[in-house]
Parts: sequence; structure tokens; C-alpha cells
Amino acid sequence: MIIVLDGPSGSGKSTLAKMLSKVLDIPYFDTGAMYRSFCWFLIDQKVALDDEEKIKMLLDEMNFEIKMDEDEQHYIVNGTDITRKIRNEEVTKNVSKVSAYLFVRKHLVQIQRKLGESKVGIFEGRDMGTVVFPHADIKFFLYADPNIRAIRRFEQLKGNFPLKNFKKDRVLEELLKRDKYDSTREHSPLRQADDAVLIDVSYLTIDQVFSKIKEHIEEKKS
Ligand code: C5P
Repeated sequence: MIIVLDGPSGSGKSTLAKMLSKVLDIPYFDTGAMYRSFCWFLIDQKVALDDEEKIKMLLDEMNFEIKMDEDEQHYIVNGTDITRKIRNEEVTKNVSKVSAYLFVRKHLVQIQRKLGESKVGIFEGRDMGTVVFPHADIKFFLYADPNIRAIRRFEQLKGNFPLKNFKKDRVLEELLKRDKYDSTREHSPLRQADDAVLIDVSYLTIDQVFSKIKEHIEEKKS
């Protein structure tokens, strides 16, 4: 069964994908982590993010691997574990620029579809239901009020980088900017698929959202 979860940043997709993966005992794939990994790689290589020719050349030079340890997925680029690095501010601020390039999307979509060849998996991202897996068995689109998402992001950042001093307003500003960039870009913008189940998660706990998703999956299975 291919299950897709799309939605804007901070809507809880990753947490839900991980919970589902545990309960259903099938793998999950965070496709945002792939765009972040490539963005991190370009920054690490000191490439200007508007240098399309150079970016194109570097696409094949990134060897991307996912390794699972007990509880967490690790993202490895050319042998280096960059799981934490891809969540830093510089990557977060620039990733939408990189993900808007059609040639970058084509390359990563190919990898994502390969991961889905076994027809088993939970895929979360922005265009899973519209572009990557239009025939997924079940599609969810999560919506949440931007202010609520910003608070969640802020708490997450504080947890991930305890020594840094984040400001809520800045987090909201960045989130709105990224939303706009991701939903107005020319190729595969963030959009709800026509046949996706829409869940407004603004005022629900993660457990409540999880129950709703599980109900839909059970219904689908039967
Ligand atoms: O989900 P996350 O916030 O980590 O995604 C980082 C960025 O990767 C998004 O802001 C978006 O630009 C890009 N992305 C995308 N398509 C996906 C997943 C993520 O364009 N399927």
C-alpha cells in the first residue's frame, strides 16, 4: 500500500509518517529531507544557488543514502551523516530555491518513485499525491493555521538546536515565505490532490490526527 501525506511545513507530516510506519510496519520516506540534503550539498560545495549550470552538473555527484537505526532515519550524502545539518537555518532558508528547479525535481522524483516500486511505503512531502504517486492507494493533505505551525516549528527548533536563540516572529516570517515559494512555483507546487482526504490539523492533537488517518486507512483496506 502506498500512502501519501502532503502539506505545508510544520503540519506534522513527518511525525505522523513515523507513527504510521511503526504501527503498519512499513517504511516511510521524508522527501523534504531529500531536497534539504541536496541543498546542504550545494551549500557545502559553495555553489551559488542561482548557478543552474553548476547545480545541474552536481546532481549526479550527490550519492544519497537512507540508513535506519533503532528509531530514526539517517541521511547520508557521499558518506557523511547530515541528518541534523539539513535542519539548520541556512538550509531551511534556501531549500525552496533549490526545490523549484525542474531538473532537481525530476532527479529526486526518479529516486522517490524507485523507492516506491515495491508498492509499500508512506511518502510525505508537497507533491506526492499530485505528481510523484498520482495512483497512491490513499492520499492525505494536511492543513494547519500558519501561526500554529510556526509555534510547532519554533518548539521543534528549540529542541533540535538548544543553544540557539530563535525568535517566534522570525520563524513565522520564514515559514510564510517558504509556503508562498512552495505553493506558487511553476513546477509541482504544493497543492491538494483532488482525491486527497483533507484534514485540518490546526486544533487537533497529533494523536487525534493519527486516529483519523488510521480510520481512513482501515476503511480503505476493508
Ligand atoms: O518538508 P520539509 O519542510 O522538510 O521540506 C523542505 C522543502 O523541500 C520544502 O519547503 C519544499 O521546498 C521542498 N519539498 C518539495 N517537494 C517535496 C518535499 C519537499 O519541493 N515533495
